[in-house]
Amino acid sequence: MKISLHIPPQMWQKIRSSMLALKPDHEEIIGFIFCEKQIDHFQNVRYIPKHWIIPSQDCYEYQSPSGLVVKQKLHHYLLEEYLQNQELNVVHLHTHFGNQLPHFSSVDDRYESEYAKFLTDTFTYQPDLISGVFDENLENYQFRLWNHQGTDFQTIKFCPDWLEIEQNPSESLEEIPLIFSRQKIFGQGFQTQLSQLKIALIGCGGIGALFAENLGRLGVKNWLLIDPDDLELVNLNRTPCAVLEMVKKGWSKVEYVKHLLSKIYPEDNNIMTQKTTLEQMENSQEIANYDLIVVATDNHHSRQIAQELALKYQRPLICLGTHIEVQSDGTPKMFARITIPPVGGGWCLMCGNIINLQQSALEIAPSVITELANTRGYLDDVEAPAVFWLNSICASSAVGIIHGILAGFLNVDEGLDWIYHFPAQEWLKTAPEYLHNEDCLFCGIPSPCQDQDSEENDYGYL
Ligand SMILES: [Zn+2]
Ligand SMILES: [Zn+2]
Repeated sequence: MKISLHIPPQMWQKIRSSMLALKPDHEEIIGFIFCEKQIDHFQNVRYIPKHWIIPSQDCYEYQSPSGLVVKQKLHHYLLEEYLQNQELNVVHLHTHFGNQLPHFSSVDDRYESEYAKFLTDTFTYQPDLISGVFDENLENYQFRLWNHQGTDFQTIKFCPDWLEIEQNPSESLEEIPLIFSRQKIFGQGFQTQLSQLKIALIGCGGIGALFAENLGRLGVKNWLLIDPDDLELVNLNRTPCAVLEMVKKGWSKVEYVKHLLSKIYPEDNNIMTQKTTLEQMENSQEIANYDLIVVATDNHHSRQIAQELALKYQRPLICLGTHIEVQSDGTPKMFARITIPPVGGGWCLMCGNIINLQQSALEIAPSVITELANTRGYLDDVEAPAVFWLNSICASSAVGIIHGILAGFLNVDEGLDWIYHFPAQEWLKTAPEYLHNEDCLFCGIPSPCQDQDSEENDYGYL
């Protein structure tokens, strides 16, 4: 059983810079994060941040190097808004003097123990109390979770990175297996991370299969594969190693991709399959148990659902697609697109217009409406053109991006949207700041700034 607090990197940057900006020299500062709790079927617990607040100077009763107390009025507001109304769990952050690894003091122990007990006595849903102590630069830290009686605590993992994956895992690879000897230039840590990475792949067709083959060969062996379809003859122009016999035997696409991956890892693989759509999955929140969600389907609706789940559970998402059209003069235009919206919001597939909401709605509309929409030209041709080599550019570039993130030479904290254009043979890269959208219905985060406009503005939140 693992317990972790995963803060999306952009959110953490904002929290950290707010705390640093408000912190007077050589004094402490505190902050609050309010989290939802998600428990998977292995009883692993993830705390998912939903709101955060850094009180400004005038919110304190007193502030000194040895401790501080926030005004009752603020305290009551926090309890009412985030505990009573939203039933969230509390993360209490504070800093200690110095730039070493900080340790909880006996004052912290006493205060937090009382606070854990107070929360238990006050709220019937039994909120959890997590506490984090930082050095004054907010670089080194320790986190702990209190029991409801306030008598004991346990250390938990804090992760402010894009991927919630151990940097220095306890069960790291002794040495790089021979199969990866030609890529050991990237280091043992890189290979260990790959061997632990868990991928939820939605869509196991032309792009998904190539993606799995590519990332599988790099070293990823833990997968959840989701696709409702069977392998068909028309797929064989773009599915690696797929043969007519599989089609004749009625193989499903998830079986086929599982077959590809288990050929690479005959023994120590962990490959789950779900022959269904993401919408119809009984336990769609199961994909939040995976480190990374990859969506490579041919429709807008499943991409929308994947994005909504990624936002809800604050999991990183990679969206893959290709597009081919032939212009009136007969010259083709071909595109491969890789989109990685930032974890936790900022922009998303919907407000970035990477998927089309009207299209998404039509895809799930009753057939009468769909037919009507079809005749009026609202729906794309379902049999969209697709070729192996263009899918390969899309899938292999996405794997290259994952490689870059893990090896530390590519940062996608603000998101990424790359489009390959052929025959121009150029990569078009959307500037993430251009995609940024505060008001999105799907990914807009109710930031503390919005609280300031409401009646509570006399607290002076950031
Ligand atoms: Zn302290
Ligand atoms: Zn959005």
